[in-house]
Amino acid sequence: MELGKVIRKNFPIFGRAGADAPAPDLVYLDSAATSLKPRAVIDAIRRYYEKYSANVHRGVYLWSEQASAEYEKARESIARLIGAARKEEIVFVRNATEALNLLAASWAGIFLREGEGILLSEMEHHANLVPWQEISRKKNLRLFFLPFDGEKGELAWEPDTFVRFLKERNIRLISLVHISNVFGTINPIADIAALAHEAGATVIVDAAQSVPHIPVNVQELGADFAVFSGHKMLGPTGIGVLWGRYELLGKMPPYQTGGEMIQDVMLDRATYQDPPLRFEAGTPHIAGAIGLGAAVEYLESIGMENIRNHEKDLLAYAREQLSIIPGMRILGPEDIEKRSGVIAFTIDGIHPHDVGSFLDEQGIMIRVGDHCAKPLHKKLKIPASCRMSFYIYNTREDIDAAVAALASMARMFEVSGAPKKV
Ligand code: PMP
Repeated sequence: MELGKVIRKNFPIFGRAGADAPAPDLVYLDSAATSLKPRAVIDAIRRYYEKYSANVHRGVYLWSEQASAEYEKARESIARLIGAARKEEIVFVRNATEALNLLAASWAGIFLREGEGILLSEMEHHANLVPWQEISRKKNLRLFFLPFDGEKGELAWEPDTFVRFLKERNIRLISLVHISNVFGTINPIADIAALAHEAGATVIVDAAQSVPHIPVNVQELGADFAVFSGHKMLGPTGIGVLWGRYELLGKMPPYQTGGEMIQDVMLDRATYQDPPLRFEAGTPHIAGAIGLGAAVEYLESIGMENIRNHEKDLLAYAREQLSIIPGMRILGPEDIEKRSGVIAFTIDGIHPHDVGSFLDEQGIMIRVGDHCAKPLHKKLKIPASCRMSFYIYNTREDIDAAVAALASMARMFEVSGAPKKV
């Protein structure tokens, strides 16, 4: 049986019915925004609140010790999933956005000097753009952007001249999205990171759309830091991860201060814990971390390679089916090997918001708008796009439902002409 059909049974949201609850036949195609939660994750969170709901790293009593053990076990699972060298390289934060703000403040804010450069790309999510704009303004740093080719949805960069480019512009930091949340492009981070290191630059990877969907090994990627959010990988909201090479984390000052992250406190000064606790001030999101640990174990039980293959299958099927819609323009690379299960598109003559509302009336949930990537849309000269995105619980039937709705909408709006790029 198709993976999605088996998996759906583990997601209580598909089984619910009743006046105020989603019917089982609703179609959810917005996992790039946030994912649904399997019972294993919901149960792990409930178990914490029902059975041992104490604070971590403090008590010398049973519940606190159990909470601490589960919290640290989650850290270990995450380290294993992404191939971190040790679990102390995993810092719990609220989400990818907070991890990037932490790096802007505690890495760029400390180690970069006036006039030095930060390289981003034109396809970044706002979370990997605005924190760098702010720190650049404060410290007089210079921002540079790798362009993308709008037709291909791929970064337009020159490996042969990249090291020289970085050195000439005095670029000390590169922060790039691993998988674009609009194009779905899988960027060649390992190639870029290797050359960046030749030029002496530090590399941050925004892995918010990659860690949930493809096998990611941070050491093979060659990055120095990576960030991602629990809620996009079957975990709860409010918990995310900063991974960093331990020696780099060790040199960074805390981002926030207070309880939990200190070693000793005098009235007029304090000393700080080693990473990761140095970056986890105050009571953390204990239930969130435990829930994320359960999500990681669930993902591992399916296998990241199987997840990737399932999404590739859905992607191939969706592209073939969407090709019947007149006026359809799919953004991003043609080659399925180069992209993930995110398909952004426009339909000539129909505003994306109308597409979203029409599909919603049919019980099909997709995302419309700029997907927090305004510069990308501005470069393409479109105000917005529609986006469907897949995960392990999606099936070919979900795609059939969306395509049928889009086809009937195109008929209603009398869109003519062949699909533009499928
Ligand atoms: N980067 C990318 C590529 C994303 O898709 C997102 C979420 N849409 C983020 C960063 C930010 O994630 P969060 O809102 O969970 O911090």
